[in-house]
Amino acid sequence: MGPAPDPLKSVCVFCGSSEAADPSYLRAASELGRALATAGLRLVYGGGGVGLMGATARGAHEAGGKVLGIIPDFLVGRERALDMVETVVVASMHQRKQMMFENADAFVILPGGIGTLEEVVELLSWRRLDLHAKPVVFYNPDGFWTTLFALFQHTVDSLLTPPEFMDSWTSVDRVEDIIPALRGFAPEKPGAAPAVARVT
Ligand code: AMP
Repeated sequence: MGPAPDPLKSVCVFCGSSEAADPSYLRAASELGRALATAGLRLVYGGGGVGLMGATARGAHEAGGKVLGIIPDFLVGRERALDMVETVVVASMHQRKQMMFENADAFVILPGGIGTLEEVVELLSWRRLDLHAKPVVFYNPDGFWTTLFALFQHTVDSLLTPPEFMDSWTSVDRVEDIIPALRGFAPEKPGAAPAVARVT
């Protein structure tokens, strides 16, 4: 009998669109794109060519990886959709997020701004509602996301979020640890939510 099939095929990356981001974040995004390609994992991302989004997609594409971009039509110009990768143009932000969710087995959060925050908070809130059990890994260079984790903990300490929520994501501070962390995540415990669920 051969090895079990790899359940991880597509990884969605949420990250910033700013060109002014710290160059080390842009380099890390590109490095992650290359690592996904090398691991044979398809990148699913927001379809733009700018900031960390563009760096991740170019890194994956240039290393021979598969890339799927999903972008709303009103952002095609503003976020400079990349024409060298497969890109689906949708009508709204909501459609974009739903399609990104449905096309990915796992999620990586790189440094980003308000758009990235919105995406990850929605993803984790779906997790909180047992709508999915897909792995979520934050890349946390220089403690970039630590204040967000503290805010999550504050809502737990205030008895507004169940403590198990803090186990629904992991955080790493080196790019080379991201894919192993995605693979090491084991949400399929007895009683855990199914890996894919209806999101309407
Ligand atoms: P930012 O982190 O603000 O640079 O945004 C990162 C990405 O998130 C960009 O592609 C934004 O277009 C996207 N974004 C911002 N808000 C939303 C939203 N409500 N739904 C889907 N994507 C969003």
